[in-house]
Formats: sequence, structure tokens, C-alpha cells
Amino acid sequence: TMASPALLMRVVASAYSVAEKAATIVRNVMAAGDLGIVEKGGANDLQTKADRLVQMSICASLARKFPKVTIIGEEELSSDEVTEELIENGHCEEILKKTCPAQYTGIKEEELVIWVDPLDGTKEYTEGLLDHVTVLIGIAYGGKAIAGVINQPYYNYEAGAGAVLGRTIWGVLGIGAFGFRLTEAPAGKHIVITTRSHSSTLVNDCISALNPDSVIRVGGAGNKIIQLIEGKASAYVFASPGCKKWDTCAPEAILHAVGGKITDIHGNSFQYNKEVKHMNSAGVLATLRNYDYYASRIPNTVKQSLVP
Ligand code: AMP
Ligand code: MG
Ligand code: MG
Repeated sequence: TMASPALLMRVVASAYSVAEKAATIVRNVMAAGDLGIVEKGGANDLQTKADRLVQMSICASLARKFPKVTIIGEEELSSDEVTEELIENGHCEEILKKTCPAQYTGIKEEELVIWVDPLDGTKEYTEGLLDHVTVLIGIAYGGKAIAGVINQPYYNYEAGAGAVLGRTIWGVLGIGAFGFRLTEAPAGKHIVITTRSHSSTLVNDCISALNPDSVIRVGGAGNKIIQLIEGKASAYVFASPGCKKWDTCAPEAILHAVGGKITDIHGNSFQYNKEVKHMNSAGVLATLRNYDYYASRIPNTVKQSLVP
């Protein structure tokens, strides 16, 4: 008989199905019309009923299957009462068929940390910019983001009735990333993508210093990494604190799986061990190609303003 699949592949295969369930919850909450908005840290730091239900669903579903894995979610939830209808116990067969990279076959449950952003782009969700929204499940081992799932619940929502709504992108270092068409940004053009709702003078000064051909302002860290791997933008530049480990873990694993690079604004890689500080205090710089071009043009004054 075949040996049972490696733990990492079973976790990714389950995370895929859990993220699809999450997407259904995100759509159902919006369709029901009562978002239950709570301000966590002011009008630009919101939580909705979807953020809460999805986090419960993802964390409880993965914890039930993988009880010794550390799971860190964005939302602080007061009650732990998870109804059975929130539990997803399926998995993606296609992922289980892939061969686990040799360096990951021996991983044990207690060595994995899963970073969960149940709904990335909440501000945009509340404003009806629905394709900015993603569900992020990032998987870390040895402090590194090694696998991730990004679900985009409203992918195709403006494409008309015939189009399939929503998609799931997944990736593992050493295997690659799937669920989208890898595309490079137009050669010789510098298209910078950045925050829509968390701008500051520093954020804008940093972008100006790069002298871009154009600037795209959209919500969500997950969304911006999708724009990079689909060739819509050449660099994600965010010279500000605010982005957290659950925003970057899944996107990082997928970007790195296709040869891209994400760091803070100084060029330091992010750490994802369970003891790490949640805030990415020194911002974000990410590209699919030509990382060095952008990194070498970040002004020293900007770097000095952002302490890691
Ligand atoms: P954005 O590009 O503005 O959508 O930010 C990407 C992620 O970082 C989202 O999850 C935001 O909620 C988070 N984020 C960025 N800046 C801030 C901030 N100033 N306060 C709270 N969250 C932030
Ligand atoms: Mg987020
Ligand atoms: Mg969130």
C-alpha cells in the first residue's frame, strides 16, 4: 500500500477546503446584509461578522484535525462556542497527490505554525470593493513561510453570470503555486501597488521616490500579492507599520514558491515562529521579478523612519 501523505501535504490539502468553506461564509454574510461592524482600532481597523465566523471556522476545523499545530488568528474572539455547521473536514485530493519536498517530509505537528487572516481587506469588504477581499492561511516551519492558501471569494464577481465566482490559490516551496496563471508585469514599466485605506506621508513619499509609471491603490495584502503574480503590478511597496504576520505568511509562501521575494522595507525577511511579534513594523516590499531594482531605490530617510 501507499505510504500516507506527509503531514505538510495533509495540512495544505485541508487548508484548501477550509478556505473554500470560509469563502462561502464571507459571501453568505454579505448576502444576508448585516455585517455587524466593530471598530477594533478606529474607522480604518474594522471587524465584521464574517471576520469572526470565518476565523472560528478555520481555526476550529484545522485544530480538530491537527490538534498539536499552533494556530494564530488575527481576531480576538471572546467566545469559543463553535457550532458544528462551521466545521469543514474535507480536503483537496489533488494536493495530496503531489510529492512533499524531501526537506519537509519529517515535519511534526508541533513544529508547524499556521497564521490565519480570516478576511483580508475588511475595510474594502464593508465598502463593496469585493474582489479586494481574500482569506489567508499561511503555514510556517522553522520560522519560514513554506506553504499557503489564498482564497478570493469574489474573484470574477464583475465578469457576469456565466463566470465561476471565487477561486483558491495554493502553493508550497519546492512544489510551486497553483490556481492562477503566472504572468510577469510589462517589461520596462514600473507599476507600484500599495494600500488604498492606510496611506500616510511616508507611504506616499516612498512611492514618489521610486518614480513609478503608475500606482495602483487597492485593499488587502493577499490581493496585492495576487496582482504581482498575475502581472498587474511590478512591486508592492508599503512604507508603514500596520501589516501583520497573518497578512504576509500565506502570500509570502505563494510568492516565494514562484520565485518572487517579499521583505520589510530594509530587505529583512519576515519570521513566522510562534513567539514572533505580530506587527511587520518596517513595512513591506515585494516583487515577482526585479526585487533589487526597487530595494536599491528605497530612500534612506524612509528606512530610518521604520524600525523593524
Ligand atoms: P492594506 O494594504 O491597507 O489593505 O493593508 C494590508 C493589511 O494590513 C490589511 O490587513 C490591513 O488591515 C493591515 N493594515 C495596514 N495598515 C494598517 C493600519 N494602519 N492599521 C490597521 N491595519 C493595517
Ligand atoms: Mg489583513
Ligand atoms: Mg483580516
